[in-house]
Amino acid sequence: MGDVAYLRSLLTEHPDFPKKGIVFLDIFPILRDPVAFETLITHLVHHTTSHTIPQSPSKKIDVVVGLDARGFLLGPIIALRLGAAFVPVRKKGKLPGKCAQATYEKEYGQDIFEMQADAIKPGQQVLIVDDLIATGGSAKAAGELVAKQGGKTLEYLFIIELAFLEGGKKLDAPVYSIIQAS
Ligand code: 5GP
Repeated sequence: MGDVAYLRSLLTEHPDFPKKGIVFLDIFPILRDPVAFETLITHLVHHTTSHTIPQSPSKKIDVVVGLDARGFLLGPIIALRLGAAFVPVRKKGKLPGKCAQATYEKEYGQDIFEMQADAIKPGQQVLIVDDLIATGGSAKAAGELVAKQGGKTLEYLFIIELAFLEGGKKLDAPVYSIIQAS
């Protein structure tokens, strides 16, 4: 079995979670299997070093931004492997100090994301990471926070993309996802 089929085989579906009509895809079985977790991280890092950065030597990743909450499980590991900084985007009220804010619509409601105001320096090149893109609302808000600080998002990375929702069309940089789900 190839890496993508292996990772896909571990995903589990949870109908009517967190509310009726939503089929929630759970990535945690991948993290429970150390070989699968390593495969996942290596796949994303290999994609970045072989596809995103080589386009130009100036495309070095300075910062990996991870989205609250499952982006926190992937982002720091990817950042360390790339020799980049890690910066969290958190739901409102969780980060100390001055923060930039962006509002977004989710598949299930509205929310506000924050990033610490000094987290990204103007001109820094950024990867934005989360477990799944659905409507693209949360990734778009994260991209806005990066842009507000003068950063440049080179790519958005996800394990899973709900491709039929076309969330990537909202974003200011290309999307890469390992698994496309319907
Ligand atoms: P979007 O903003 O793209 O509509 O929703 C994506 C956000 O919702 C991500 O932060 C993701 O973690 C969460 N999310 C929505 N649906 C699912 C799902 O089925 N599985 C997982 N793991 N996360 C989901």
